[in-house]
Amino acid sequence: MRRILQDDRARVIRALRQSADTLGVLNVSARALDADDDERWLSWTAQPRPRADGAVVWEGAIVDITERHQLEEELRRLAMVDSLTGVANRRHFEEMGERELSRLGRVRDPLCVLLLDADHFKRVNDRYGHHVGDIVLRRIAEVCTRQIRTVDAIGRLGGEEFGLLLPNTALEGARVMAERIRRAIAAERIVVDGETIRVTVSIGGTQVDPCESTIKAAMQRADEAMYRAKQEGRNRVAMEAPGLIEPPANAVTELPAPRGASRAAGT
Ligand code: GH3
Ligand code: MG
Ligand code: MG
Repeated sequence: MRRILQDDRARVIRALRQSADTLGVLNVSARALDADDDERWLSWTAQPRPRADGAVVWEGAIVDITERHQLEEELRRLAMVDSLTGVANRRHFEEMGERELSRLGRVRDPLCVLLLDADHFKRVNDRYGHHVGDIVLRRIAEVCTRQIRTVDAIGRLGGEEFGLLLPNTALEGARVMAERIRRAIAAERIVVDGETIRVTVSIGGTQVDPCESTIKAAMQRADEAMYRAKQEGRNRVAMEAPGLIEPPANAVTELPAPRGASRAAGT
């Protein structure tokens, strides 16, 4: 027991107690240090045997499940990540969005969502080939990742579309961030096989209304704003304020300008 990691000890002791009390099979896994002080995952499966003196001894097996555990961790990670760009996939992005939204119920910090779509991306593929298109998508993800703060999150929502979650950020702050990302991507020179490729993006953004029950409403609004940015000429940012939902009495709200009041701020 001495070599089981401190963090896992209480869990193992609980399992032992329960097995001793109920005489049910002990089934528990925990991290332990081996003879070289390397961390291993061990799994205990054992049958409790009460002795005449009232003590309980266990008969069973201890199996080293480190490799299986690492494989499971890797599979869990892969299930959350977009394999082309290494950022979160759509499902994980939406999960992070729901988590941030549930935090809004407790803290009053604003939360914004940005949707970013590469402009005329079909032309990049048609002109340079799909594999070059893939390199460009990776670069877009890298530039976004470089521009955002550690509290922010990025995901690839599909195709040439990315989402960004900006906690502690109100609509105007999100517009500034979107504008910075838009400019950084437009300034990139992507050199592949001696060819210099440039790409622009259109970005739509909105603030999440704490009264909304799912992040999808804000994503939909950001999507509409993004299409507006496309219609207004691409390579620009358009923001959409959330609809004003009646705030609770005596609450002090700083909701941004009503729907339609914010305009694209492109070049
Ligand atoms: P718009 O400015 O209106 O967004 O034009 P667009 O050409 O970007 O939009 P459209 O939706 O017509 O085309 C999206 C293109 O993105 C077509 C598709 O082949 C390409 N695409 C989607 N996923 C990938 C991918 O994983 N790799 C590459 N290389 N291309 C992709
Ligand atoms: Mg596009
Ligand atoms: Mg698209």
